[in-house]
Amino acid sequence: MYGPVIRRIALPAGETIPVLGQGTWHMAEIPERRKAEIGALRLGLDLGMTLIDTAEMYAEGETERLVGDAIAGRRDEVFLISKVLPSHATRRGTTDACAASLRRLRTDRLDMYLLHWRGSTPLWQTIDAFVELKERGWIRHWGVSNFDVMDLIDLWQIPRGLDVQTDQVLYNLARRSPEYNLLPWCREQNLPVMSYSPMEQGDLLSHPAVRGVAERNDITPAQVALAWVLRQPLVCAIPKSGSAARVQQNAAAAAIRLSPQDLTELDLAFPSPIEARPLETL
Ligand code: NDP
Repeated sequence: MYGPVIRRIALPAGETIPVLGQGTWHMAEIPERRKAEIGALRLGLDLGMTLIDTAEMYAEGETERLVGDAIAGRRDEVFLISKVLPSHATRRGTTDACAASLRRLRTDRLDMYLLHWRGSTPLWQTIDAFVELKERGWIRHWGVSNFDVMDLIDLWQIPRGLDVQTDQVLYNLARRSPEYNLLPWCREQNLPVMSYSPMEQGDLLSHPAVRGVAERNDITPAQVALAWVLRQPLVCAIPKSGSAARVQQNAAAAAIRLSPQDLTELDLAFPSPIEARPLETL
């Protein structure tokens, strides 16, 4: 089964990724849902959402095992991302965490490895580990998550810090603070931003303004939220769904362009930031 071709954006390294991928947080937490979640991820791959985002943190490793099942036999189709916890992000700890993620995912490499958020370990130690993991072939690229502009500037000061390939952050209609300085800064550096929780974990979907735009265009609120995030250049989104029907809706959002009237109505309900605010996180 194939859906519309999903637009792609380029990483600084030159390789491209689809603007819509799939999140996995909270998958594998309820055994009865496991089969449907695997089916949803596999359908997402069929529909072109071939980027899958997971983390060692999710369900204490069980989510990575589920992703391993979902991509079994299809590894080469997938751009696979996992994340190291800050508490593991020393040089040795990062290598050990990566080995454990690879075992759970039953693969020999990650396409992207992210520092989940900045902790107390000096950044250079984590970067040293990422460089070594790349040399070993265990990871193909690395990036960061929940980094505000000042964190990225700190990263820029570290030898090899410029090799960062993405910053994964909370960005959606209800969380527009990155528009003030993070998104413009990243665009200037050609650094793609990956929007997590693009539907605010589902909370945006009952908002009257989102519903209004959805009804007028005969699309779903989820599609409004996703198309809104994807209106920005160099931004991709990783919605999570464990339901096949919703995955189908989400994939179709890649082809939706919101009109100036839609965008104005959404701006009124969710104003763009007029001053710098710290990056929000979940
Ligand atoms: P999302 O904004 O993707 O929302 C997920 C929720 O929306 C789920 O409850 C899902 O339910 C529901 N949903 C999905 N599609 C639809 C639809 N079409 N219609 C109605 N409801 C829908 O939130 P997440 O927090 O999961 O963010 C996405 C991903 O980002 C995560 O899964 C994770 O991979 C990553 N992430 C990264 C973080 C970081 O710190 N780096 C932090 C948070 C998330 P159902 O599954 O039942 O369809």
